[in-house]
Formats: sequence, structure tokens, C-alpha cells
Amino acid sequence: MKEKYLVINAGSSSLKFTLYSMPEAVEIVNGLIEKIGEGDSSYTLKFDNKKISNEEEINNHTEAVKVMLRELLKNNCIESIDEIKGIGHRVLHGGELYSGSVLIDEEVMNNITNLIKLGPLHLPGEIAGINSMIECLPDVPQVAVFDTAFHQTMPEESYMYPVPYSWYKENGVRKYGFHGISHKYITKVMQEKFNKQDVNLIVCHIGSGASITAIKDGKSYDTTMGLTPLPGLVMGTRCGDIDPSIIEYICKERNLTVTEVTNILNKESGLKGLSGKNDFRDVTDLALNGDSKAKLAIALFERSVIKYIGQYYFELEGNLDAIVFTAGVGENVSYVREDIINFISKPMGIEINKEMNDNIARFKEHQTGIISTDDSKVKVMVILTDEEYMILEDTYKICNYKKQKVKGLK
Ligand code: ADP
Repeated sequence: MKEKYLVINAGSSSLKFTLYSMPEAVEIVNGLIEKIGEGDSSYTLKFDNKKISNEEEINNHTEAVKVMLRELLKNNCIESIDEIKGIGHRVLHGGELYSGSVLIDEEVMNNITNLIKLGPLHLPGEIAGINSMIECLPDVPQVAVFDTAFHQTMPEESYMYPVPYSWYKENGVRKYGFHGISHKYITKVMQEKFNKQDVNLIVCHIGSGASITAIKDGKSYDTTMGLTPLPGLVMGTRCGDIDPSIIEYICKERNLTVTEVTNILNKESGLKGLSGKNDFRDVTDLALNGDSKAKLAIALFERSVIKYIGQYYFELEGNLDAIVFTAGVGENVSYVREDIINFISKPMGIEINKEMNDNIARFKEHQTGIISTDDSKVKVMVILTDEEYMILEDTYKICNYKKQKVKGLK
């Protein structure tokens, strides 16, 4: 029988899924169920160059999973439910408990539930997704792949905040870092490209959410996001680094609660706060039409990337194999890469290969990804991230390790 694996990314009102056949890791179908429990729910499936979209009342995650399974069967993506041999779930936060992916059992679910306070915006939806999958497919092994796990190798000097030590010991206040699945994937690709494990990199994952990680000897050494995904770079709607005193000040000035301000810092700030638009394409269009706020938003965003490249270059003591750009903006927006590289060009001895940089988006999977000139001191590269594949790989490994263990016991 064919073996299929599902990768799930559940949100509070959405369920994204991708089905792969293994061991070839060929994507069969991907889909999205949206607005679960909001009255105007719908689902979309994409496969074989086809797209199916329908509206249907879907009240909760369990109903969403049932719709997904029904559609997978109806569209012959699977012949039977038994073909699904494993399910991988993206989980935002593993705290200090998880430095790798794990098979989900009751204890893991309890641990993730206890971490909700660290990821209140994401974990409840993800937990609902996992529980619904377990309810509908109780015999299929399920794996949790944490977005924080890769960063557990950071040294204390990187992850501690200079606040009372008891906040760390008693309340878990420290830098956890996010986008770990993407940073791990890029590190793996670069280890293969350079044919060595101990790569030193500065990985710029720049999408709507954005973070930069310093990779030392193939491991996360420092990263821009923190206790939550809010700090670091200027993002689509998140503010990135700001003076923490702004929170109390603006609460008083505008008669807002801390929760309201935190919400604004997460959802109404960054590019959106400055320019009114959070999508980089829209901000670029505004800037091209002379909008000064959009120009400022892009300048602040680029400046935040430059600052961290500089900081991490020094943290890595100048031992750097490559600077990598990835995710929506990093992969697609050549002028942003050009501005950033030109800014760091002199101090870092890097020069952009403009032709490669301008054309890389067109055939990126067939190219080396290098956008710096041959005589640059550090390579600059564009590499496509693939978080789904990383979740799939961990899930497949863990499910098959479990099978071998069971066989071994027999
Ligand atoms: P996330 O996964 O955090 O939602 P993505 O990595 O998908 O983010 O990146 C989304 C961002 O990338 C958006 O700001 C979008 O405008 C930008 N983006 C994606 N593709 C392109 C493109 N072809 N040209 C310009 N910007 C793009």
C-alpha cells in the first residue's frame, strides 16, 4: 500500500494541510480550510494543476478535519484513510522542554497546553488541530514539530534578558526564538551545499513575519525574535524592537489597556503602522508613487535588517560562510536585497552581482543561489525555504523510528 504523510498547520480559525507520498516526498495536494466557526467558512484544494474551492458550514476543527478527509478521498488523493501513515503538526512553542520534534502522547499534549501562556495567539488553534486529528485518526502517529526547538542551542549570553533573574527561573522569561523550522531547513541546505556540518551563516527569513538567525557551527547561536515573535526586525504588522517604556506611556496617553497596546504592536504596527499597508507589494507600489510614509517604512525595515547583519557578523567574529535571504520578501524582492547588500558592501567586502540578483526569482530552483560577485569576501545567497518539507522529514523519521522500535520489541 502507498504511504502518505500529512503536514498540518492549524490556526485559531484555519487549517492548512499538505499531503505527501513517501519516501519520494512528492507533494500530492495542499489545501486550506478558512474561517472555521465564523459562519462563512470555505475550503480550497490544489492538486494536479487543479484548484477546487467551495463554501461550506464548518463549525470547528473536528468538522474541518472531516471535510479534509472527505475531499482527499473524493478527489482520489488517497484511496483509503489507511494510507495515511503519519501526521506532522507545526507547533509554535516548545518552551525549554523541546529541542527537537517528538511523537505526540498525553504527556506532550499536557506540556503544550501548559505552554499556552507563552504562545496565547497561536497555541490554542494548534492544540485544537492536533486534538481533532487524534479524534478522527486515532491510530495514526502524530508528531509535534516546534518552531522554537532549533534555537535551544543558543548560549545563555544570547537567550537571557537583563531583567531580574527570578523572572527567568520562576516565569520562563527568556529569548526562545521562532521560525526555527525555516532556519533549520536553510542550515541543512547550506550544509549540503558547502559539504560540511559546521557552517556559519546569517539567515534572513523575511516574510510577513521576519527574523534573522546567526548560525554558528551549524547551530542557532542568536536570533532576533524573543519570548514572543514580536521583537527584532520591522515586520508586516509587528513593531520589532522598540523601547518597552512606550507601552506604559501610550496606555496612559491614549487610555488603552496593556492588552490593547500589545495587540496593536502585533497587528497594527511595522510596515502597516507606518504606511497603512502590510503586504510588501502594496508598500512598494505606494513608495514608487512617491508616498513618503511608505518610503520611510521600507527604510526602517531595511535598516533593521542591516543592524542585525552587523551585530551577528561581530557575534560570529567575522567567520561567515554566507548571508542567506529567504521567505516571501527575501526570495522575491530584489531591490530590498540590493539596498541591504550595498549598505554593508564596504565594511564586509561584499559586492552584489546585480544580474544574478535581478534574475534569481525567475529560475531560482535551477541556480546556485549566489547573488554576490566571485571576489566577495562573504557569499550572499537566495535560498527557497520549505518549512512543510522540514516538518515532513522529522515526522517521517520519527514515525519510522517508532515502527522499527515496535518491530524490534516483537
Ligand atoms: P508568511 O509566511 O509570514 O505569511 P511569506 O514568507 O509568505 O510570509 O511572505 C509574505 C510577504 O512576502 C508579503 O509581504 C508579500 O508581499 C511578500 N511577497 C511574496 N511574494 C512576493 C513577490 N513575488 N514580490 C514581492 N513581494 C512578495
